[in-house]
Amino acid sequence: MARLTFLGAAKTVTGSQYLIETGAARVMVDCGMFQGDKPLRQRNWADPPYDPARVEALILTHTHLDHIGRVPRLVKQGFRGPIWCTPATRELAEILLLDAAHLQKEDAEYLNRKRLTSHEPALPLYDEAEVQEALALFRTVPLGEERAVAKGVSFSFRDAGHLLGAASADVTLRNGRATRILFSGDVGRFAAVLTKDPVLAPNADYLVVESTYGNRAHPAVDVRDQLEGVLSRTFARGGVLLIPAFAVGRAQQMIFLMDQIVTEGRMRPFPIHIDSPMAVDATRIYASHPEAHRVNLDGIGGRSLLYGKWVHLHRTRAESEALNSMKGPAVIISSSGMLTGGRILHHCRVRLPHAENTLLITGYQAAGTLGRALLDGARVVRIHKGEVPVLAEVRDLKGLSGHADAAEMLRWLSGVTAPPRMVFVTHGEEDAAQALGARITKERGFPTHVPGLGETAELS
Ligand SMILES: [Zn+2]
Repeated sequence: MARLTFLGAAKTVTGSQYLIETGAARVMVDCGMFQGDKPLRQRNWADPPYDPARVEALILTHTHLDHIGRVPRLVKQGFRGPIWCTPATRELAEILLLDAAHLQKEDAEYLNRKRLTSHEPALPLYDEAEVQEALALFRTVPLGEERAVAKGVSFSFRDAGHLLGAASADVTLRNGRATRILFSGDVGRFAAVLTKDPVLAPNADYLVVESTYGNRAHPAVDVRDQLEGVLSRTFARGGVLLIPAFAVGRAQQMIFLMDQIVTEGRMRPFPIHIDSPMAVDATRIYASHPEAHRVNLDGIGGRSLLYGKWVHLHRTRAESEALNSMKGPAVIISSSGMLTGGRILHHCRVRLPHAENTLLITGYQAAGTLGRALLDGARVVRIHKGEVPVLAEVRDLKGLSGHADAAEMLRWLSGVTAPPRMVFVTHGEEDAAQALGARITKERGFPTHVPGLGETAELS
């Protein structure tokens, strides 16, 4: 008899964390941060309902913070076991966790300075030294190789698409007979820009599947055509195209798409400036994993085309400031992706007041962010305490989501030929999770359940 407890991403999209307990072992899958409004974020501080010191191993599906963001805190609370992930996830986790520690420190300092906290002083969830302690426990395992991680518990990773290094975790419990539990992780799209198609789900006794877009269908649009249109229009005006992008994944997709447009002879070459130390690091990691991409990234002279002749990487503040006087045609890619901080804000302050420029949004913009306000048509915005008139064109590039939609989740599940005992639907708002569960039952006849936070299921 084994038990599976849903400690996060239950009727919500963040905080992924699952605890498997058998009579002989305790293994956790993912340890993500809760993100979003305050009640959700406060869950990051809650005492765990289990003893972290007694969990023998942690398996990480991929490097997004809603899957790994509480790992240093788990270590701080006493976890000492190995942390299993793919090699690319290990490399990306280092830059993402160090950045998370840095941002938390800045936020805490800001709150303390402004005396905005009710119970002083504000603290970060963990610091950079604690990130290093956690990283020392990481162990890598390539896709497809089985590893024993605790008494009677083994697992292997299957390519999930979604992001460099992202995997589904295929866990087997052995106690006389075998029980197989497949954790989808985040499932990517079929025919995506850089990531390979997700490997179809295998037969398993239990499946835990994500449902971020469980009630949605992505629009069928050609990303290259949209991008070429925006580039041509902006450059005809002599303008600069400003792209706020998440440093890991989205920035590299954008470089690749623009390289393709030029390589196919659709446009003359133009300079692309990557202005984000984190994006520069992530681009290096992307270039060093050619086996993980659906496309060949070899450029001229054996260099990755992510480092092509027209791509300029900027780390220092001086290099960033030098871009302020640059004239178009040119592209600046900088983070953060939702314009909630970072160097992109300086570029917005400089570029938005001029009608020849364009701001191109490439990802989801949460309510309350500057990115959302601009997309909603704001003509004046506040940046760094100053009012900035918006005369630049503002556009939204559709079709780059990293998550499968409902139909693609069903396609991924087409690999399952024998009915599982249960499909647990997680990692989605409740409406999306219920909708995907109902669709799986209707189209495949599988039993489904949307677990609540903290709920435990007995696995027979
Ligand atoms: Zn993800």
